[in-house]
Amino acid sequence: MSTNPYDWIEESLETIHRANWYRSVKTISNRSGAVVELEGRSLINFASNNYLGLAGDERLIQAAIEATKALGTGSTGSRLLSGHRELHRELESAIASLKQTEDALVFSSGYLANLGTIAALVNQRDLIFSDRYNHSSLKNGAKLSGAKVIDYLHCNLEDLETKLQQYRQQYRRCLILTDSIFSMDGDLCPLPQLLSLAEAFECMVLVDEAHATGVMGKTGAGCVEYFNCTGRPLIQMGTLSKALGSLGGYVAGSTMLIDFLRNRAATWIYTTGLSPADTAAALEAIKIVKIERDRRQKLWNNVNLLKQQLSGLNILPSESPIICLGVDTSVQALNIAKQLNENGIFAPAIRPPTVPTSRIRFSVMATHESSHIQQLGQIFCRLG
Ligand SMILES: *Cc1c(COP(=O)(O)O)cnc(C)c1O
Repeated sequence: MSTNPYDWIEESLETIHRANWYRSVKTISNRSGAVVELEGRSLINFASNNYLGLAGDERLIQAAIEATKALGTGSTGSRLLSGHRELHRELESAIASLKQTEDALVFSSGYLANLGTIAALVNQRDLIFSDRYNHSSLKNGAKLSGAKVIDYLHCNLEDLETKLQQYRQQYRRCLILTDSIFSMDGDLCPLPQLLSLAEAFECMVLVDEAHATGVMGKTGAGCVEYFNCTGRPLIQMGTLSKALGSLGGYVAGSTMLIDFLRNRAATWIYTTGLSPADTAAALEAIKIVKIERDRRQKLWNNVNLLKQQLSGLNILPSESPIICLGVDTSVQALNIAKQLNENGIFAPAIRPPTVPTSRIRFSVMATHESSHIQQLGQIFCRLG
């Protein structure tokens, strides 16, 4: 009997459908902002990571155009061969200056920054502790490294400490991985206490500031700044693709760390350098983050307004512009997202396996108008 070796794919897809886990892309046809054209309809956008509205900002667009005209569309090689431009160094200096670190290194995406950095820092002889709710890129970076990986309960430092006592001594190096703002929940990791615990057990810490950069802290440097942990020994990573409105990832830390990564991070060494357009747009975004503090203030005003509008509903604990409405089932989440869509709101249903429990995820932007957020409140009132 001969069987088709690809048959399992169809069966697997059917399983995904049966669990209501099936996903597909939706097409946006305008410049992404507080309002998007989604499949022919105009919707208020609560689905993007464009927290400061910079992805559609004229200044970033101009910077990208000028860099493209000067340097072309592609960087044509890896940074260590033909792909390095002065613009990359300028961006890395700007990131280091924003983060108040000695140096920084730009990767082609945040995902690749995590994979490459984690795999360069630890191996089979080492130990990783990882928050259960960490982003996929941290989890897969941990797997790729070959280190022993132990998950701890979400933001639970008692659990982490118990596990450190039990396992730390049996391994050479130890690395603790955490999101700073948890991407699908919107809560914050208890960073100062986590760093103290790491110090006590001689552990490195990598904190993922993907959703916090440009958003948290007085100057927009992230949760490290927000928690007054600037200057403490740790490894910060983040993305250029969320509040900074571009594409790419970065790691910020000591001169030694960055020099080491330039020599050991495979996802940096063996991939093409960031395009001139993406590099220039991110650089422009960092300049704006530094000078336009009122943009961040507007974002936080909008966050407070949204929380007020949704009060009385099952809102998950959040201290960020990510605000989630918890629901019981995948089907329920899909229904609510559909009803919101019919009423002019774009907010996604987030379901297992991305998260353990289903929810509707709203992300707030500085460029939302008050009326956008009030409209959302009115819809929930009407739908009950
Ligand atoms: C989005 C995200 C990443 C990946 O960043 P990209 O630049 O989009 O690859 C990493 N970590 C977290 C927590 C994220 O939310």
